[in-house]
Amino acid sequence: MSTPRGACPTLHEPMLTGDGLLVRLSPAGTGWRPAELSVLAEAAARFGSGMLEVTSRGNLQIRGLTSDSAAELAVDVEAASIPLRTGLAIDTGPLAGIDADEIADPLPLARDLKQAVEAAGLFARLAPKTSIVIDGGGALSMDDIIADVRLTADSERRGDWHVAVGGTARTARPLESVAEADAVSTVLALLEAIAANGKYARGRDLRDADLVGFVPKTPFVATARASTPVGRFPLNDARLATSFALPFGQVDADTLAAFCAAVAESGAAEIRLAPGRGLIVPGLDMAACSALESKAAALGFITDSDDPRLVIAACAGAPFCASAHFATRALGAEIARAAPELLAGRTLHISGCAKRCAEPPAPDLTILGADGGCLVLPGDGRTARPTNPVAPEEALAAVRRLADTELAHEEPAARNPQPAEI
Ligand code: SF4
Repeated sequence: MSTPRGACPTLHEPMLTGDGLLVRLSPAGTGWRPAELSVLAEAAARFGSGMLEVTSRGNLQIRGLTSDSAAELAVDVEAASIPLRTGLAIDTGPLAGIDADEIADPLPLARDLKQAVEAAGLFARLAPKTSIVIDGGGALSMDDIIADVRLTADSERRGDWHVAVGGTARTARPLESVAEADAVSTVLALLEAIAANGKYARGRDLRDADLVGFVPKTPFVATARASTPVGRFPLNDARLATSFALPFGQVDADTLAAFCAAVAESGAAEIRLAPGRGLIVPGLDMAACSALESKAAALGFITDSDDPRLVIAACAGAPFCASAHFATRALGAEIARAAPELLAGRTLHISGCAKRCAEPPAPDLTILGADGGCLVLPGDGRTARPTNPVAPEEALAAVRRLADTELAHEEPAARNPQPAEI
């Protein structure tokens, strides 16, 4: 019943984690109605641990299920007719189609591509985690989302899309841009090339020989955009969206249900999940934004884009994961509260054990669970000098020592943690 290694957990194929089974869900369209997300929150309380997460890629996770309760959850969710994404993951960004700053609407292209992939029977021949990003160039950055194939709207030649394979906007291999009319066939050809390398091949594995007919290009430079889903965003119908991040991506079922009720009361029809562990509510006027932001702040959501918790990626940890040596998110909250200056321009990864779930790319600091407490290490810690574990209560002091010594010469550069999804 649980997913094989390398697969993505779904409603019907949950994944085994340290706190039981986990399902990962995405809306079939751009978002869910408040009542639909509320049903999922109630189901998480009834069948799981009552904790839900929004991941770094903007998917919803329900944790703490057993095989029996996961089956009951699936029945419950299907009975509620909640629209769920199936097939190839095509990410278009949380403001797709409504963003006032968007260069091109990625939704029609995403629809056409999904149909073409299904018609070609391609999904079954691709690695389960294969994903496409179609970035219309709106206010919220998709640059840190890893994709096998990525299309980014060309700001200079409207209607054209930059094409790249295997990575984030910075690391993917750029290819010649295509006109919108050719975009679907181009992505299909690239997916065929990936599939030809085997069932578990990915975009990053493509070699020159696989890309005959595709012209390599120098990377294009995207304009700077918001990297955290916190704040207000103007929409193309003169209304606004307001966006919140969940502390460490986590929320309990009652709090999420209360948020859904507040959104319904605001008159908004949709809640979108945002990469960077956020929730976006579009379709509001100024007064409704202010009212909802006050309620979200009272519920404990992050409403300030300078909140130091935004640069901490923490795995589930104790008490949610049996493998954890300490309470990762409690430690993250303590460091953010007591020493925000240590996090300025830095990213911190806190992992309850050596498995390193939720690891962001190139963290500046790592706290890793180990026998006897936790290891406080520079960078991702893999090449750090051996050190002794400290008790979790001593971790903050150890972070201070590290910042005063090994990290003192580094010039902090503001970055956003985009951890691996779990
Ligand atoms: S890294 Fe965290 S969530 Fe992953 S197994 Fe270890 S304690 Fe559990």
